[in-house]
Amino acid sequence: MFRLHRDEGRASAAGFVRALWPAGRLALDTLLPMQCLSCGTVVGAEGGLCAKCWPKVTFIQSPQCAACGLPFAHDVGVGARCGACSRELPPYDRARAAFVYDDASRNLVLSFKHADRTDAASVYARWMAQAGAALIEEADVIAPVPLHWTRLLRRRYNQAALLVIALAHRSGTRADPSLLVRTRRTPSQGGLGVTGRRENVRGAIAVRDGRQDGIAGRRVLVVDDVFTTGATAAACTRALLRSGAKAVDLLTLARVVRPIF
Ligand SMILES: [Zn+2]
Ligand SMILES: [Zn+2]
Repeated sequence: MFRLHRDEGRASAAGFVRALWPAGRLALDTLLPMQCLSCGTVVGAEGGLCAKCWPKVTFIQSPQCAACGLPFAHDVGVGARCGACSRELPPYDRARAAFVYDDASRNLVLSFKHADRTDAASVYARWMAQAGAALIEEADVIAPVPLHWTRLLRRRYNQAALLVIALAHRSGTRADPSLLVRTRRTPSQGGLGVTGRRENVRGAIAVRDGRQDGIAGRRVLVVDDVFTTGATAAACTRALLRSGAKAVDLLTLARVVRPIF
């Protein structure tokens, strides 16, 4: 999981930083040479992507749907919503994402989720903080979309929780990485359409017992790696609103713009 242990000096430095601060991995990563998160070329410490890969990733900016954050080709006015959000307003207030999930960016998301590129969290949090500046500023607490414990055991980490810790570290906003919990195992959402995804996660996410007081009347920012149809975001939102949260926003690393099924 921690890919820097090859070097003795760095490994002892890692232990030292971790002893000072539990999320020390994130701090340490900013001190070491970084590889391009897409192709592996060595880039500057402040980088994340090399000069070749950077222009291929489509970062999302205004104009966009005021609700789900879908990027618009043309500015259609402040507060404009996309067709889907006009037909049925999502339960969350605003969803925002750093970049479009497509062929150029897929590897960024997958390597973060499956290939132990946990060192990417601080760079991704920087991009997400730009895309969701207002959401972070207004949030009282930041929480990740939860993994079921069986999936957590297999993967060893929840990539959304790493993003939450990095975002909280940047902003000073309170993080609660275990606020939400999966109450049952759900099959992978891959290959499911809008309705299938909605059914798949219905009632599968809840606020952890005893945490209701911490969110009553508060604005919660839910964080995930990819926004696809918004089904998981809606399930998290409903659970939080039922438990007394005032409002919910969603911030993800990437967002599907065209249906992928
Ligand atoms: Zn590159
Ligand atoms: Zn929308």
